Order: sequence, then structure tokens, then C-alpha cells
Amino acid sequence: MRRISILGATGSIGVNTLDLIARRPDAFQVVALTGDQNIELLAKQARDHNAQWAVTADPAKYDALKAALSGTQIQAAAGPAALIEAAELPADWVMSAIVGAAGLPPGLRVLEQGGTLALANKETLVAAGALVKSTCARSQARLLPVDSEHSAVFQALIGEDIAAVERIIITASGGPFRDWPVGRMAKATLQEALNHPNWSMGQRITIDSASMFNKALELIETKEFFEVEANQIEVLVHPESLVHALVGFRDGALMAHLGAPDMRHAIGFALNWPERKDVPVARLDLAHVGKLRFEAPDEQRFPALRLAREVMQIGGLAGAAFNAAKESALDGFISGQIAFMDMAHLVEEVLDDLSGSAGLKDDAISLDNVLQMDQMARHTARTRIDARH
Ligand code: NAD
Ligand code: MG
Repeated sequence: MRRISILGATGSIGVNTLDLIARRPDAFQVVALTGDQNIELLAKQARDHNAQWAVTADPAKYDALKAALSGTQIQAAAGPAALIEAAELPADWVMSAIVGAAGLPPGLRVLEQGGTLALANKETLVAAGALVKSTCARSQARLLPVDSEHSAVFQALIGEDIAAVERIIITASGGPFRDWPVGRMAKATLQEALNHPNWSMGQRITIDSASMFNKALELIETKEFFEVEANQIEVLVHPESLVHALVGFRDGALMAHLGAPDMRHAIGFALNWPERKDVPVARLDLAHVGKLRFEAPDEQRFPALRLAREVMQIGGLAGAAFNAAKESALDGFISGQIAFMDMAHLVEEVLDDLSGSAGLKDDAISLDNVLQMDQMARHTARTRIDARH
């Protein structure tokens, strides 16, 4: 029996992870499940999977959670400290699937304890790559990729020497605005941004896919995860979303990873690693697919990609500032305060504002460093959003 915890169980990745676990009930024992606002689902998941703990990030939801779990042996807890305590409970495998920088503190706690962390929360590596790696080196913790592109690269690298890698190519669907002119993108609505052609995901990452901020985060995630140079990583638009990534080697070989656009593949790979076991994803019928298209990304219409290159160039805490500014810009777009293309403008302005600030170029030595930069960037972004009104 492997002991499993899921941070962010009630989200898209969390639900898919529990789907896989439910198919092999004898193999897994659920320790802790965490959520935030959706108490009904969290309590149902905890009951269905006989979890030991159910934890909500929102302290105001404690009573509701406790009530929803009445008559069971499941322990309830709430608040940010309870989230860290959930991460500390002994487990063999922990899924990091909280959305945003909120996923960093509990995920880092798992790594500090030398645990195995399946990382869907890309923000962890974007905001605190150096800290995550030094923590893993110290504690012997293991990080497994769950983002589909990074799982694909990881799989293409099995048995290979990273020194033989020339380049890593991560693909992007191009999202709903792949062929929209910039003038139309500037007026894009929330509903239009949520209309992803291939993947079903949480709301925030879906909008980030439409702006390619998701791919921007993934560029930085690739650099941190595989420890390659920024100029070795490319983004390739691939509207079918069947090739998830390609690894180019020094002899010219290009290894591609293909699969249906279903996150249960990457989750299942991380869950079963280092073995491969049956995962219920659709099998590709390439004769039926017929054609795969590839095109270069347009950095004019998707400036997030250019910004990610600048962030990688700056290094230090720039990733923490970038992610936090992006989260604030996304909040601004979701609440209707700023337009779609203004998200990238705002993030660029925040990076400019902070470029002179002490510490942006410094490597993160602690979680406090990272969180301070995160707060500074959010504050700067909010001030700029308010100034627009
Ligand atoms: P989601 O919005 O569906 O779920 C987010 C989860 O985080 C929920 O359980 C929610 O309760 C919890 N949460 C939200 N705010 C929180 C807070 N402040 N504190 C604690 N918990 C909080 O998101 P998702 O689509 O499942 O994505 C989760 C993570 O995985 C993100 O980092 C995303 O970028 C990454 N990811 C997702 C996909 C996908 O297909 N959905 C693919 C690759 C990577
Ligand atoms: Mg991805």
C-alpha cells in the first residue's frame, strides 16, 4: 500500500489523480486531501477515498468541513498552517496540484522532508527554482513532473545523458486565439479565453493557455527542471496537442512524445514511476488523425513568451516576481478590470518597476525571500491596475 496525499484534490488535476487511485483501491491509502472553497466536493472525496485528513485552505470554512465529515473518522483542519501540516503527514507520494504560488509552501515542506513530490504546480519551480533544487539536493527529495510537456521530456530522457541534449522543444496548442489578429485579441472576453480547443483544465491555467502565459511559465519550468540553458529551449505551436514535447540530441535525433491530450497520462506516469502501468487514456489512431501541424509562435501576439526569456536572463527572484505579477494580471482580467492583452503589458511594467529593486537578481535563499518578492510584485501590479481606473 502506498500512502498518498493530494494538495489541491478538488481541482482538475486532483480529480484526475483520484480517478486513477480509485481504479486501484488495493494499491493506495489516502492520507490527506486538501481543497479551498468547494467543501462539498472535498468532503465527498475524503469519504469516498477513506482519507485520514481533509484540509481546507480557508479558515472560515472549518465548521462547514467539520459538519460535512460528521459521522466519519476523518479529521478536519483549516487554514494555511493546516495545509503545511497536511504536507508534513507521512506519505510515500504527494501530488502538488494547488493552483498558483499558494502551492509553493506546502510543496516545499514535502521536499524539505525528503518526500516524493509529483509537481503539477509549475509555479513552484518558476517562483523558487533554485530553492527547490537546493532543498532536493539536501534532503534527497524527489521531484516528478506532471505538466504534460515536462512529463514528455522526462520520458524522452530515460536512459539518456542530459549532456547529450542539444535542445528541448515544448509544444503549445496555441489556444483559442492561435490565429486571431491582435486587434481582436485585445477585445477578447473571459468566455472566449476559457474556450480551450483541446484540454480540459482549471479556469486559471485555461486563460493562461490563451495568453501563452502558461507556456511562458513552462519555459522557465523546463529550464529549472532539466537544468538546461534558456537558449536550448524552444516553443513550437502544434494545434492538435498530440505531440507534447521533443528532445533533440547532439547527433541530430529528435525524440517526440505523443499521447492523447488527457492529463491522466502524465499523472499516471508520475504515480506509477518508475514502473509503467495501465492508464485509461484513449490510444492514438494516427491514421485517423492524418496530419500534425507545427508553426512558430508569434511573440508579438503572445508577448508572455518574450517576457519569460527576459525573466530567465535576469534569473534570481525574477521568476517569483513574474509569476506573482501574472497572477495579479489574471485576477484583473477575470474581474473585468483589464483587457486580455493588458495582462502582458501589466506584467512587463511590473518587471520594469522592480528591475531596480534590491533583490530581484539575487538567488532565493529562503522561502521568505521568495514570498517577499511575490508580495512586492502583487502590490506593484495592483497599484498599476488601480491607476488605470
Ligand atoms: P484548479 O483551479 O482546477 O484547482 C486548483 C486546486 O487548488 C483546487 O483544489 C483548489 O481548491 C486549490 N486552491 C485554489 N486556491 C488555493 C489557495 N489559495 N490555497 C490552497 N489551495 C487552493 O487547477 P488545476 O487546473 O487542477 O491546476 C492545478 C495546478 O496544476 C496549476 O499549477 C496548474 O498550472 C497545473 N497544471 C494543470 C493542468 C491541467 O490540466 N489542469 C495541466 C498542467 C499543469
Ligand atoms: Mg503543460
